[in-house]
Amino acid sequence: MTETITRFAPSPTGRLHVGNIRTALHNWMLAKKLGGKFMLRIDDTDPERSKEEYVDAIRADLAWLGIHPDGEERQSARLSIYEDAFEKLRDAGRIYRCYETSQELDLKRKVQLGRGKPPIYDRAGLELSDADHAAMEAEGKAPHWRFKLDHDDPIAWEDLVRGPQKFDPATLSDPVIRREDGSWLYMLPSAADDIEMGITDVLRGEDHVSNTAVQLQMFTALRDAGFGPIDCPIATRWPHFAHEALLVGKEGKLSKRLGSLGCDAFRERDIEPQAIIALLARLGTSQPVEPIANVAALIDSFALETFGRAPAKFDDTELDRINTAIVHQMEYEVVKDRLPEGMGEEAWHAIRPNLETVSGAQDYWKIVTGPIELPEFSDDDRTYLAAAAAALDFTAGDPWHALTGTLKESTGRKGKELFMPLRQALTGQNHGPDMGELLPVLGEDVARRRLERAAA
Ligand code: GLU
Repeated sequence: MTETITRFAPSPTGRLHVGNIRTALHNWMLAKKLGGKFMLRIDDTDPERSKEEYVDAIRADLAWLGIHPDGEERQSARLSIYEDAFEKLRDAGRIYRCYETSQELDLKRKVQLGRGKPPIYDRAGLELSDADHAAMEAEGKAPHWRFKLDHDDPIAWEDLVRGPQKFDPATLSDPVIRREDGSWLYMLPSAADDIEMGITDVLRGEDHVSNTAVQLQMFTALRDAGFGPIDCPIATRWPHFAHEALLVGKEGKLSKRLGSLGCDAFRERDIEPQAIIALLARLGTSQPVEPIANVAALIDSFALETFGRAPAKFDDTELDRINTAIVHQMEYEVVKDRLPEGMGEEAWHAIRPNLETVSGAQDYWKIVTGPIELPEFSDDDRTYLAAAAAALDFTAGDPWHALTGTLKESTGRKGKELFMPLRQALTGQNHGPDMGELLPVLGEDVARRRLERAAA
C-alpha cells in the first residue's frame, strides 16, 4: 500500500488565519490517521509578496498549535523542477506563448460578457505564426505562457468531500502558468510538486475546485511527457482530492475578520491551542464539537465522509466554551509555568473549575495571597465568625467540612446562613472556588486571621 502523504501549502504573503489553520489541521490529521506523512510546502514563488517573516510565523504558529510537519519544502528552492516540467510540456506542445497585456485581456472579457458569453480566454496566442512571434520579439515583447487544456478530454474525479465532480474543459480558460519575466504562477509548480513529492491526498478549500480541474489535466500531460519519478504513486493513481466547504462567520458570511483572525489574536485572548484544534477538527462535520483535549482521540475519529458541503460556521463564543472546558481539564504540570508565582498544584485544582482562561488564575490567586476586602457583617455574623475562628481545626483531613459540621451543630445555622459569612470572611467574595478545596490552600494561619478580622 502507498504511504499517505498530505501537504499544507501556504503562500507566505501573510499570517495564517483560522481558515488556513483548519486546512493545515485537517491535512495533518488525515496523514496521522492513516499512519502517513504531513508535509509543509511553502508556496513562495512570488518574490515580491513572499516574506521571510511570514515563513517563520507560519512555522511558529503550526508549532504552537501542535501541528508538526514531517518535512518541509520551499518552492523557491525547487525552481529547476518547474523548469523541467515546463520544458517537457513545451516539447509536448501543451504550453503556448501569449502577449496580451492585462488591459487587453480585461477588454476581451468585457466584450465577451457584453455579448452574454462566458469570459474564457479565446486562445489567440495559439493562432500566432512564427513570423508573428518574431515580430513580437523584435518589438521587445516577451511572452507569457499558458497551459493548453485538452478540450477532448473531459475532466472528472471523485471528490472525497463533494462526491463526483465533472468539468467540461472547454468552459475553462487555459491558465497562465508563467509570466513574461519567467516567474511562476501558482498552477504548474503546485501540480509538479504534488507529483514530485508523491502527494497522495490533496485536501484544500473549495475555492480550489476549478484549479483541481485544470491540474488534473496537467498531471496527465506531465505524466505523458515523462515528468516525475517513475515510481511516484501519481504515475499510476492521481492523488485523491477533497475540497472542504469554506469557513464563514456565525452570520453565515465570509467575513473580513475571519481572514485576519490568527494565532496572535487567539494567544491574546488566552485561548489554548487544544481548544482551537478541538473546534476546528470537527467544525463543518457531522461529528459534535466537543472539548476533546486528547489529539489522538480527535485524529482517531477524523473522517472525510463526515464533512458537510455547507459552509462551516466559526463562532467565537463556541471557541470560548470549548476553551473553558479544556482549561478545566488541564493538568498542573502543563500550566505551571504560566501560573502566578507560588501557586502550587493544590491551588490550581481548587481554582481551575472557576476559570475561563489560564490567565484568569491571576485574579483568583489574589484571593489566596490577599489583601482581600471584607463586606460589612452584622453583629450576629461577627459572633458566628468568632466561633468559626475558634473552631477551625486543620488536624482533620478536610478542615472545611470539619468546620462547617461543627458550626452547624453548635449554632444551628444551615445552608446559605452557614456558608456565606465564612466564604465572605475567607475570600472577600460571594462566590468562587469550592471552599473545601480552597481552605487548605489558604492554610490555617491565614484562614484564622481572616475569620478573626471579620469577627472584630
Ligand atoms: N498556495 C496555495 C494557497 O495558499 C496552495 C493551494 C493548494 O493547496 O494547492 O491557496
